[in-house]
Amino acid sequence: MAVPYPERLYYTDPYLTRFEARVVERLTWEGRPAVVLDRTAFYPTSGGQPADRGTLSGVAVVDVVIREEDGAVLHLLEEDRLPDRVIGEVDWGRRFDHMQQHTGQHLLSAACERLLDADTVSFHLGAEVSTIDLNRPRVPLEAMEEVEDLVNRIIWEDRSVASRFVQADEVAGLPLRRPPQVEGPIRLVEVADFDLNPCGGTHVAHTGEVGLLKVLRLDYRGEETRVEFVCGGRALRDYRRKNRIVHRLSTALTVGQDELEEAVSRLQESLKATRRELRAAREQLLEGLAERLLRSAPPGPVRVVRAVLEGYEPADLRSLAQRLIGAPDTVVLLAALAERTHLCVARSEGLEVDARALLRAVCDLLGGKGGGQPHFAQGSAPTADRQRVENSLRQAASILETQDPTSTE
Ligand SMILES: [Zn+2]
Repeated sequence: MAVPYPERLYYTDPYLTRFEARVVERLTWEGRPAVVLDRTAFYPTSGGQPADRGTLSGVAVVDVVIREEDGAVLHLLEEDRLPDRVIGEVDWGRRFDHMQQHTGQHLLSAACERLLDADTVSFHLGAEVSTIDLNRPRVPLEAMEEVEDLVNRIIWEDRSVASRFVQADEVAGLPLRRPPQVEGPIRLVEVADFDLNPCGGTHVAHTGEVGLLKVLRLDYRGEETRVEFVCGGRALRDYRRKNRIVHRLSTALTVGQDELEEAVSRLQESLKATRRELRAAREQLLEGLAERLLRSAPPGPVRVVRAVLEGYEPADLRSLAQRLIGAPDTVVLLAALAERTHLCVARSEGLEVDARALLRAVCDLLGGKGGGQPHFAQGSAPTADRQRVENSLRQAASILETQDPTSTE
């Protein structure tokens, strides 16, 4: 059977990792030295499956791509130093991983067609997980679990997986899952009594080698459902990682693995209650502080409350200022020291005082900035020097002594 130029050894033997070949063309491709060989076991990026890695006579093969115009397989190299006759070595770990994922995908797509009447419209073999897109919206998780059961049953039955080439005119009578998308002789991959599909990828010889297929996630994307899955070694690593996480969590929470969900929801509830209590305690604290500040302000036609506080958030400062200006004829200049100083200036309803002007006076002295409304303004300054901040509040407050803030004119 004729196969397309050059001889692609992985078509007939995906387990072949060492081969001899002759360099038939040398070129530069995307800035890299590259060669075309008369025969190759290297799989080039195509059909949703990434390219192999490995070496040609000890030189690393960094990528393998197909040249569109003539179908040549280009081996992109780390260095430009190949003899005319080379020994190729394919990275078997990577190749076998791709074989597991790709054969798993054929089983998954065939099972989706059988049980869900859903066609696979695209396949992506990723570095971590693989995906297929089904032409059916919102496939329920329970339905996908049945698909997963069927796939794994076929895996454990260790059915044979074989490939063969047929001529285009022979294809018409065959029960293919998907019509071929190439011209000329067509390569078919058949899982015994389960699936027959045109494909140029590398596959295991028996489904048992896939080991396990696990669906990780369903992603509903409009009219399609994206299925994220892992097979074989990836499924083992995923299980190992999740088992570790669950083990660590159950140790940290001192509960059995089956009680984890309940323990987490109890924690969430208690966190909510604690937050509520904390907020209430904070409010009480601010209420008491407001009363003390009002009592200790010097008497006058206008009560001026000045305070420099520590350990208060800007939100506390706002809340405190709101309480203080609830009292009549009161002007408030508050600062909370932290890495920067937060500032809040406010006044009671009816007073002819511009809180923004007072804040501006404070900011000018401290090199800060801020703004707001005539009755309530906030800002911050890049200092944590208590003495400076106290002085700036005092100086700004002295502006009030030169005017009659109770005037309504
Ligand atoms: Zn395929």
